[in-house]
Amino acid sequence: MSRPLRARVNLDAIRHNYDFARALSAPDGRTVAVIKANGYGHGLTRVAAALKGADALAVATIEEALALRDAGVGNRLLVLEGVFDQMALREAIRQRLDIVIHSDYQLEMLALEPGATALALWLKIDTGMGRLGFSWREAAAVYQRLRALAPDSEITLMTHMACADEPEREFNRIQLQRFDEASDTALGTTQEVTGQRLPHSITNSAALLAIPQARRQWNRAGIMLWGVNPRLDGVEHPELKSTMEFESRLIAERSVEKGESVGYGCSYHFQKAGRFGIVACGYGDGYPRHAPTGTPVLVGGQRTRLVGRVSMDMLAVDLSDIPHAKVGTPVTLWGAQLPVAEVAASAGTIAYELLTGLTERVPRVYE
Ligand code: PLP
Repeated sequence: MSRPLRARVNLDAIRHNYDFARALSAPDGRTVAVIKANGYGHGLTRVAAALKGADALAVATIEEALALRDAGVGNRLLVLEGVFDQMALREAIRQRLDIVIHSDYQLEMLALEPGATALALWLKIDTGMGRLGFSWREAAAVYQRLRALAPDSEITLMTHMACADEPEREFNRIQLQRFDEASDTALGTTQEVTGQRLPHSITNSAALLAIPQARRQWNRAGIMLWGVNPRLDGVEHPELKSTMEFESRLIAERSVEKGESVGYGCSYHFQKAGRFGIVACGYGDGYPRHAPTGTPVLVGGQRTRLVGRVSMDMLAVDLSDIPHAKVGTPVTLWGAQLPVAEVAASAGTIAYELLTGLTERVPRVYE
């Protein structure tokens, strides 16, 4: 029997979540499906194939984009980090990739590449995220430089929000105001667009879901495609469907006396006599090592708790209140009945990290 650990991926649920993102973007906006980091752990090429009707796809790196083109993915494809050298830029031109321009060195690279004049470019404006992009204060000057280098390109102005998972925060309003100011001044530098704005892209999932005034011509949906509501308050979104069942089985069970411990460091001692089981899943598979005793796990569909430290290949669960559980009983580490966000919160992290952290050792099964 092979090791009973797998991630079952529900492609219909991913399509459903994408369609919901698209409905939020409608009627004027289109939706980029952000599938970087191995499709947030779901499998890059399989997810891309499932979303072949998407308006556009986005990945972080040129390597991810080329893997998709190699797999025959023909969608409009945006590289969020842009390119770091001339060879990558040439590859982007050859493969018809949309690229983000966020730094001076990328403008210099464009100047050396005559073929770049018609690339679709996304000019990234930093309105407060403080990561990539030109300051909103210099947007007009940078736009002018870019337009001169790429006279035939479609240029989309984009920014990224820092606090959209807390939609009531004032900083969201400030970022939107800075972005619109940047867009208006950039527009003032061009003759070609009269009476309208350049195409915009502001939203991630959190903003698309909860900040309607941030929805523009292009909206970028990532975490919501996997059924996760990015809001920090942890409330699940009624329209989003869970996309992954991360499941295993009990591979051993045993009884313990009061005071006995389990796992490395003898960190957990049973308060009374009971039973625990061993699950074939550990941090070598991407389960968070920092998940403490008490982290929820489903055994035979019933909620119980992780006990002791997570090992590389195994973890232990309390079976004291699940008398029918035995070797072979199914275990769900996260899924529709146990949101990945809840497990992440218990481990002091976010669903993004758990999903993208699933390792290659975990077979993905598509349904
Ligand atoms: N846009 C950019 C530039 C990003 O870096 C990301 C993800 O980190 C996204 C959109 C999608 O964000 P989310 O997964 O929160 O929807």
